[in-house]
Amino acid sequence: MSFQVFGLPVSRGVAIGRAVLVASSRVDVAHYFIDETQVESEIGRLRSARDAVARELSTLKRDLPQEAPAELPALLDVHLMLLHDEVLTGATKQWIRDRHYNAEWALSAQLEVLARQFDEMEDDYLRERKADLEQVVERLLRVMARGVSTDPFVSSPALQAARDFGGEDPLVLVANDIAPADMLQFKRSVFTGFVTDVGGKTSHTAIVARSLDIPAVVGAREASRIIRQDDWLIIDGDEGIVIVNPSPIVLEEYRFRQRQSDLERARLSRLRHTPAVTLDGERVELLANIELPGDAPGALEAGAVGVGLFRSEFLFMNRGGELPGEDEQFEAYRAAVESMNGLPVTIRTVDIGADKSLERLSANELRHDHTLNPALGLRAIRWSLSEPAMFRQQLRAILRASAYGKVRLLVPMVAHLSEARHTFEALLRAKQQLREAGRPFNDVEVGAMVEVPAAALILPSLLRLFDFVSIGTNDLIQYTLAIDRADETVAHLYDPWHPAVLRLISQTIAQARAAGKSVSVCGEMAGDCAFTELLLAMGLRSFSMHPSQISSVKQRVLRTDARRWSAKLDQVLLADEPQVVCVELQRGLASISAPVAIAVA
Ligand code: PEP
Ligand code: MG
Repeated sequence: MSFQVFGLPVSRGVAIGRAVLVASSRVDVAHYFIDETQVESEIGRLRSARDAVARELSTLKRDLPQEAPAELPALLDVHLMLLHDEVLTGATKQWIRDRHYNAEWALSAQLEVLARQFDEMEDDYLRERKADLEQVVERLLRVMARGVSTDPFVSSPALQAARDFGGEDPLVLVANDIAPADMLQFKRSVFTGFVTDVGGKTSHTAIVARSLDIPAVVGAREASRIIRQDDWLIIDGDEGIVIVNPSPIVLEEYRFRQRQSDLERARLSRLRHTPAVTLDGERVELLANIELPGDAPGALEAGAVGVGLFRSEFLFMNRGGELPGEDEQFEAYRAAVESMNGLPVTIRTVDIGADKSLERLSANELRHDHTLNPALGLRAIRWSLSEPAMFRQQLRAILRASAYGKVRLLVPMVAHLSEARHTFEALLRAKQQLREAGRPFNDVEVGAMVEVPAAALILPSLLRLFDFVSIGTNDLIQYTLAIDRADETVAHLYDPWHPAVLRLISQTIAQARAAGKSVSVCGEMAGDCAFTELLLAMGLRSFSMHPSQISSVKQRVLRTDARRWSAKLDQVLLADEPQVVCVELQRGLASISAPVAIAVA
């Protein structure tokens, strides 16, 4: 039966593929294809893991202390029985044979199928056996993890084989929630699209999905409950719609749209090396947002003239809470700086907290199980200042990278002048330590992120201390409107067009320019073409966004007369419904400038 699920569109394009359902706790299980010649050895891995778990369980049972509850041996027998049940291991082998999934993936796929069957059981006792089955599978996965590399994406020869493996159906991932750190791992995965039940448009999970440039829908509420393993899905990342088991006619329509958008991308990519200059001759700087040093070459390739935001916290994730040391960070920053060939790289000090946890936790888990209000808690510069040794270590690593290119340092979530002062003190100390150690570094410009209304309101004071500012609209909207950016239940109120938000942005740009300091926007609004003309009208000349968005924003810049737009700015800012006014202006001014607009051949 075909049906649709609605969510929030977070990453453009259309993906068509078979659903792979993944429980959030198992999202970090390696997903890769093996080739035909590896099927038997993969089944061998599964068999060895099963035997090892059987030994573990038998030993546990044998060594149970006298005082252990009487039910325990019976429970271990149930686990042993489940372990040897053909519906688990037999069917898992089938996933390996038929689909060429690696053993861990095959096992979690089969668990999803069985978990559904348990959920539907009438009998309470039987339904509760699902937890036992999950424990058995967790044991198997743990045993397999011990026997293989911890990062199969990097080192597995099987992955290489997977990359070359043809003839498989494309796959899309369906999960209740995916933590940003897990999403990051998918940079190197086989999935061509994502759907999650929870999440907002600018949650970090959505941001990473966008940076992968893979169609994604979040906040689709019940998706992971009603979609079944292996269903065919269309993910419409432009409209936020997921079509389950589409009819042939709908499928054809979407395949056509897929081809159209591929053509459009190819057409836009020809703008890569064209300078971004408005119709009235204003030069605009289009920079890239990156999460890892490995993203830098892609940024250059997309035509970025520098990195406007390196979210350094992603280096701190996926490591079981252990922090990267100074040398490791230095190598990562240096790699990014060297990849950019002399273009500026703006490294933001770590922004841990809120929906970006050091542990593998989704925003949902954080909200419900850990901190009451993580977005208002110990995050970003607050966290860094509460960990002075860690902070100085990061500052030293960033400073050392400045010996290899143009580095700028950016401080997230500044709200108090005291935070700025403490940051500069820490920086002085870090420089002193480097001098004493004889390590070279250059002077770096230091900027503040404007992402809390308080920062926008005390901007003149901040501008006296900092060399530049960067507006983080994602958080500025969240904190101005009191809307958790990761909460799909209030996503309809998360409104970048709210007059209060637009006025804060406009005021920040105007004050920074008046003070002769550079200002850029690095939140999602910078990469959203709906705002390009308006931001240009406000005087913005530096935009930082996902590399994949650069070409389309550049096309807008090339077609905009910034002076004409500036004359209309108050009309938008003073309106009760700025979006309506802006859209009307876009239509009107586009028809004036259309004949001279630069066409992409
Ligand atoms: C922002 O808040 O707009 C921003 C760029 O930072 P992040 O999305 O990482 O919070
Ligand atoms: Mg932010």
